[in-house]
Formats: sequence, structure tokens, C-alpha cells
Amino acid sequence: MPVYEYKCPGCGNQFDLLRRMSQADEPVTCPSCNNGAQRVLSVFASFTTGSSGSPVPMAAAGPT
Ligand SMILES: [Zn+2]
Repeated sequence: MPVYEYKCPGCGNQFDLLRRMSQADEPVTCPSCNNGAQRVLSVFASFTTGSSGSPVPMAAAGPT
């Protein structure tokens, strides 16, 4: 079973789950706050999310 990465938009908790591929897009619950978490797509692994909410390259999102 592949590992999928999820992030909770409520508390920012990021966690991995072992799920069947067919369950990858099913809703998951954040273990910290019980809000719905969203799957982090592996294609965005080299990107981080800027304060604008848009994905920005890591290089441009370093410490300021
Ligand atoms: Zn949470």
C-alpha cells in the first residue's frame, strides 16, 4: 500500500497515512483536531505553499 501525505488546513498538522490507492482521495480526519485534512499531492513535493495560498518554489520561500 502506498503512503499518502495529508495536511490539515485547520491546525497545520501534517501526517502520513497508509491507504489503498482507491481510498487516497477519500476524506481523512486530522488526528490532532478532528477537522478534515487534505491530501498533499506528491507532485508538489518540491513546492511549498506561500502566504498567498499559491504554490511557490522552495528557493523563493526560504527564510526571510
Ligand atoms: Zn488539524
